[in-house]
Amino acid sequence: MLQISVSKSLFDEILFGKIKYLKKDFSKYWQKELIDIKIENDKIVYSLKSVNKIRIINTLGKEKPQIVIECLSLNRNSDLNQFEFFLGSILEQKNTVVVDERDELIKQLLQEKEDMKNSMTKDFLTSLYNRQKLDLDLEISVNRIDASLLSLVFIDADKFKSINDIYGHSVGDEALKHLSYKLKLYCTSLNAEAYRYGGEEFILLCFKDKNELIPILNNLRIEIKRDKIKNTDYNINLSVSMGISFWRDVSSITELLKVADDNLFKAKDQGRDRIIYN
Ligand code: GH3
Ligand code: MG
Ligand code: MG
Repeated sequence: MLQISVSKSLFDEILFGKIKYLKKDFSKYWQKELIDIKIENDKIVYSLKSVNKIRIINTLGKEKPQIVIECLSLNRNSDLNQFEFFLGSILEQKNTVVVDERDELIKQLLQEKEDMKNSMTKDFLTSLYNRQKLDLDLEISVNRIDASLLSLVFIDADKFKSINDIYGHSVGDEALKHLSYKLKLYCTSLNAEAYRYGGEEFILLCFKDKNELIPILNNLRIEIKRDKIKNTDYNINLSVSMGISFWRDVSSITELLKVADDNLFKAKDQGRDRIIYN
């Protein structure tokens, strides 16, 4: 059987079906290997040998990885001065397990990298982005071309301590998870991203015109009050207060946070379960 030795990277590409043909130059060696010479009626006739399968080996290592692969056709490309082998399915493979393991290891490492990135930017309880990610995103958001649309919505669960006190901390956790789920759900219509700022406090960074923003947030506020909290048997009265600031009205990120926080304080002061903005 015809045998071709290839580099490790080429071997892997053939093994994983990324490459469908191989080429070899018209060297003396390959001409001798692939061309039949016959004399017919006193004339020399050249013809390509028939090749049905090829053994492809990778020269590295003691136990050479190798595959036997179907050769669908062999072509003599005179323009490029090369032979072309069109490859079909793999018929046999030997010692390729090392290659497979390496592939598995790369996948595992990429997954670990992704998990690490998530654990650094996401909050464990709610899976929302955390405060570190908020800081990074704020810098990016205020520099966006559409930054004039940016608003910061500070959201704080009302009288949350009493929910813990009455129903227990684990029910409190379920309420926070439910709240986060609602915020995430509304992110699409608000063109927003949601963050857990800490405890029972959340922030939304929205890119939405003020006239549209307020009614959507109001619906969110009403739904939070009306919804039954998932995974609990109690009828818990959960409501939120919100304070909003707009990037176009302030001159720094610190001020953006402060104005929203001040408005949140006013919402609490005026009786909670409401939205305050300038
Ligand atoms: P207000 O309406 O003024 O915001 O009242 P509040 O009770 O929500 O505010 P306060 O700051 O007094 O209490 C916040 C409570 O949130 C206290 C704390 O136990 C609770 N909390 C913070 N983080 C978590 C958490 O991860 N899980 C649970 N179950 N409770 C939390
Ligand atoms: Mg609070
Ligand atoms: Mg609170």
